[in-house]
Amino acid sequence: MVSMDRRVRVWQPGAMREAGRSEQAVIEPELLAAAVAAAEARYRTRRPRSAALAAEAAAWLPGGNTRSVLHFDPFPFRLAGAEGAEVVDVDGHRYVDLLGNYSAGLLGHHPEEIGQVLAQVAASGLGPGVVAPVEAEAARLVCERFASIDRVRFTNSGTEANLMAIATAQHHTGRRKVVVCRSAYHGGVLYFGVDGEPLLVPHPWLVAEFNDADSFRRFFASDGDEIACVLIEPMMGAAGCIPPQPGFLQTLRELCDAAGALLIFDEVMASRLDRGGAQGRFGVTSDMTTLGKYMAGGFNFGAFGGSKEVMAAFDPGTGGMLSHGGTFNNNPLTMAGVVATLGAALRDHELDQLNERGDRLRHQLGDVLGGSNLPLSVSGLGSLLAIHATPVPPLSPPVLGEAARTWQRLLFFHLLEAGYYVAPRGFIALRFDVRENQLDGFVAAVAGFAADPFRQAGAATPK
Ligand code: PLP
Repeated sequence: MVSMDRRVRVWQPGAMREAGRSEQAVIEPELLAAAVAAAEARYRTRRPRSAALAAEAAAWLPGGNTRSVLHFDPFPFRLAGAEGAEVVDVDGHRYVDLLGNYSAGLLGHHPEEIGQVLAQVAASGLGPGVVAPVEAEAARLVCERFASIDRVRFTNSGTEANLMAIATAQHHTGRRKVVVCRSAYHGGVLYFGVDGEPLLVPHPWLVAEFNDADSFRRFFASDGDEIACVLIEPMMGAAGCIPPQPGFLQTLRELCDAAGALLIFDEVMASRLDRGGAQGRFGVTSDMTTLGKYMAGGFNFGAFGGSKEVMAAFDPGTGGMLSHGGTFNNNPLTMAGVVATLGAALRDHELDQLNERGDRLRHQLGDVLGGSNLPLSVSGLGSLLAIHATPVPPLSPPVLGEAARTWQRLLFFHLLEAGYYVAPRGFIALRFDVRENQLDGFVAAVAGFAADPFRQAGAATPK
């Protein structure tokens, strides 16, 4: 017999039942830890070349890479190449790529139109610091696509786009305060999670709660005449693919209007959810919108835009006071990448189909997880999904205990072993090149885990 105090519960006792789910058998912490250790050992043993390259890289790159989100212990596998929707590592393992470069890889690994851009720019030159007509063409395509954007400016990243949007809103309103959501990710220096603070840019932030309109109302009641803007994703992305509750975004629209603040939608990820962006899907229009990720077909990209009046701040011809620098704002690869993406590769009906496929996948995973006795659930919309270590899909970013994180880790290693690459925290972004049978295989792999998480890890199944 195991005494109760040595056992692990990964949710509040009764929470599964309250959520209409059967209670999970209580798992001893030692068993959970042993299963993860076994899965990790197997991962490490089967990837000697990745291990050696990771160790070598650490001599030059702190942690062995230059993009923290790609790190996981013991070391991330090293890429050898990509074929179709799969990535292959240097030890010869193949994985269906369901991470989709955290949503930037929407077009797939080898979109034909982007190959043509590379050839075209190689022939015409890498940009001599002169304004090129392709910039206006890229801007026209962006403005025509998003109802909230009359005028747009390009940047090198989504982070930069958000920094510029905030500064623009502060200039426009003459105010400083910025309302954001707890755990939101708007860029490397705009992260509102527990460990984001050391690198957070210094603005007077007011941190509210996604899907909790009252938390915003309180800030507008106390600080309304000092608030420059609300910066929010219409659906939270990196924080767990959490859709807005009905009426939530509309309330933010009304609060901003009443206070004279600007509503900024960060659609760096969410813009792929509909032809006119997530704001088109949810029927709420922002004052400013930021873009990024997939929109240049895989080249560095960011953009911020809004109404003519707001963006006039960047027009020296009409007395605009803001100067927006950036050597590579008009990078010819990026500009041509936008034209190729929005003008050709991003076909509306394919986008619709992918979002519908994502909805089906989410329902399939929901059925599998909901029918299991594991504390796992799935959330999201369209082609953006997240598997959570919570018994029901969260309405705002969950705060995970150690046991929940252990479940996530066990599932992650199980999926790698089965040949599926998702984010360690369960984030999934579908891409145009993923095939139906690959998604079916993924559902089967998750079902295998749900049926027996310990056997899959190569550890003993608890009786
Ligand atoms: N905003 C959102 C919603 C994001 O998901 C990200 C990146 O993941 C960013 C902004 C930052 O974009 P970038 O990585 O291009 O700086």
